[in-house]
Amino acid sequence: MNFELQKKHLMEIAQNMWCTWDNQSKQLFSEIDLELYEENLKNPYYLMQKISDAKLEEFLSKNENIKRVVNLFSRYSNYMNSRSNVWHSEEKIVYLSMEYGLHSSLPIYSGGLGVLSGDHLKGASDLQLPLIGFGLLYKYGYFKQKIDEDGNQQEYYDKIDWENKSLQKALDNDKKQLKLKVRILEDEVIVKVWKIMVGNVPLYLFDTDFPENPPRYQKITEKLYISDREMRLLQEIILPFSTVKMLNKLNCTPAVYHLNEGHSALIVLKRLFQMMDKQNLDFEQAKQKITDSTVFTTHTPVPAGHETYSNDLIYKYFAETLQKHNIEFDLIKKLGKGNSHDLFSLSALAVNFSCRINGVSKLHSQVTRNLWKDIFEKISSGKTKIRAITNGVHSGTWLADEIERLFTHHSRETIDKEQFWNIHQNLKRHLIELVRERKHKEVLQEDKLLIGFARRFATYKRATLILNDKERLLNLLKDNDKTIQFIFSGKAHPADEEGKGFIKAIIQFSKQHQLENRFIFLEDYDMDVAQHLVKGVDVWLNNPIKPKEASGTSGMKAGMNGVLNFSVLDGWWPECYDGENGWKIDAGEYENDPQEKDRKDADQIYSILENEIIPKYYNRNGDNIPEEWVEMMINAVSTILPQFNIERMLMDYLNKLYKPVIEND
Ligand SMILES: *Cc1c(COP(=O)(O)O)cnc(C)c1O
Repeated sequence: MNFELQKKHLMEIAQNMWCTWDNQSKQLFSEIDLELYEENLKNPYYLMQKISDAKLEEFLSKNENIKRVVNLFSRYSNYMNSRSNVWHSEEKIVYLSMEYGLHSSLPIYSGGLGVLSGDHLKGASDLQLPLIGFGLLYKYGYFKQKIDEDGNQQEYYDKIDWENKSLQKALDNDKKQLKLKVRILEDEVIVKVWKIMVGNVPLYLFDTDFPENPPRYQKITEKLYISDREMRLLQEIILPFSTVKMLNKLNCTPAVYHLNEGHSALIVLKRLFQMMDKQNLDFEQAKQKITDSTVFTTHTPVPAGHETYSNDLIYKYFAETLQKHNIEFDLIKKLGKGNSHDLFSLSALAVNFSCRINGVSKLHSQVTRNLWKDIFEKISSGKTKIRAITNGVHSGTWLADEIERLFTHHSRETIDKEQFWNIHQNLKRHLIELVRERKHKEVLQEDKLLIGFARRFATYKRATLILNDKERLLNLLKDNDKTIQFIFSGKAHPADEEGKGFIKAIIQFSKQHQLENRFIFLEDYDMDVAQHLVKGVDVWLNNPIKPKEASGTSGMKAGMNGVLNFSVLDGWWPECYDGENGWKIDAGEYENDPQEKDRKDADQIYSILENEIIPKYYNRNGDNIPEEWVEMMINAVSTILPQFNIERMLMDYLNKLYKPVIEND
């Protein structure tokens, strides 16, 4: 077999995100050159760019390795060329999101919303759905986190070397990078187009950062969720306006536009103008057509999650075009009216221009229905329902290979407990190794109960609830044979002083009481750290203020790996908790006083730890296996894996949103 051809095949695989979740690919690329592979966040494309021919030839000098590459390429080709057996229409579904969490080497996500978007594309690819993703490519991405001596979060932004990432330039007919022109006020902003292949789903990313643009417009795609309000609005104009232009370039007339959160809602205005110009429709006709093809997923009941702008700012950017189309500004203002009279809400605009709307768990949909029925006539009159499609996670990305194999080859009754426990302990060791490497210290013990808490440090998630009664906590942390250990990780939004205070409180508590070896904060939470944590801890603690956690997905990732959820009955957990697959926290649920609520919830957390979790974990048989614990782990995997995975979620999107829209139901 010819070296150049093998190299070309490896290069092709490395350019597709598929290789970041396919276990055989990961294994193979890491073996080609482990150092290079790990040097850039396990990014196979970087490896293939940097590797010398000599080194690659050495790897391919072994017959067995040649066979593996041939076999891998054949699996890859099959994957790319197979047809869907769940959906046969060729009608395109367009998916818009401000952030995508595809891999830790592409830092264009901040948290759960982004990771869900990434998983959505991966799942659509696995099911061969005709989906196209659109987003922005940020010069600096989301910030990286460092914590100083005193526990203060420092944010820094690395300029990302996009040349070494697995993205390509989208090309025009002359094989040059495609450039779009988007009109903003008097100016034509030039937008470059990039493309990432997520299996067979293309994701197009837009970028304004280059010298042909005036400096002000170069900044539009500088950072994810840029703080300056006017810049943020420009981001939310550039994404949807470029999307429509790009669809024209691709000669694509999608059947469905899926707005993932309200950030991309302004696409309805761009489509409105285009339809009125090109199809000679009047306002009402165009509005109807847009509504019939738009679906909207809302992700949070927390007001800060819903984007609003002053009407003046919207007027500034849209008045002229609206006037040109004979549309009164007041009419658009009304369609963007949320619960505050003075502000223009992108969620409101999305609601008014969508035929189908969903929340991301049953509870969240219920809560949203109640909140929105007083705001939107469309909801109170029953013209649009708020449906529930509970989130799921991409098992290829989040489930440990060994656990997947164990549960594919055995029914839950025939799982060998000792084998499962050994797999888990092995994953726990991997996590501990990572933590020790980062801390340069011999922290954590593998034979002691390890509780994980990792997510964005938004205040409603109450990262410091466990510190509510320090004496009681210190008692559990005493160095004895039933001691417990904690690991925390997560970023606070740069403007969120309270969230940053939570990080500091955790670090200072640990220092004050000399608990640095077992009460740990791990810096710079990202998808790589998340992958280690959701596989390697014993318990996944989640204690948000109900009902603010719309769904939550990290608990699903943990649970499918046999990590036991210990969680407030919020988001997805009420749909899964059955008394035998984890624990619930609900003592403070009906308490209105925030301090009392914290106290009651914390009390219950300590009690369950003292009376159930710790005794069960340390109750071992003659072979040192905690049989009852492993029984619960088996229950967790068996209830979570079949239900909270991305295929189930996408089938729900297909059946409840996409299909009815395509079939005009
Ligand atoms: C899954 C994931 C999240 C989501 O966490 P929840 O708080 O459970 O919704 C956030 N960040 C990263 C990096 C993740 O992988």
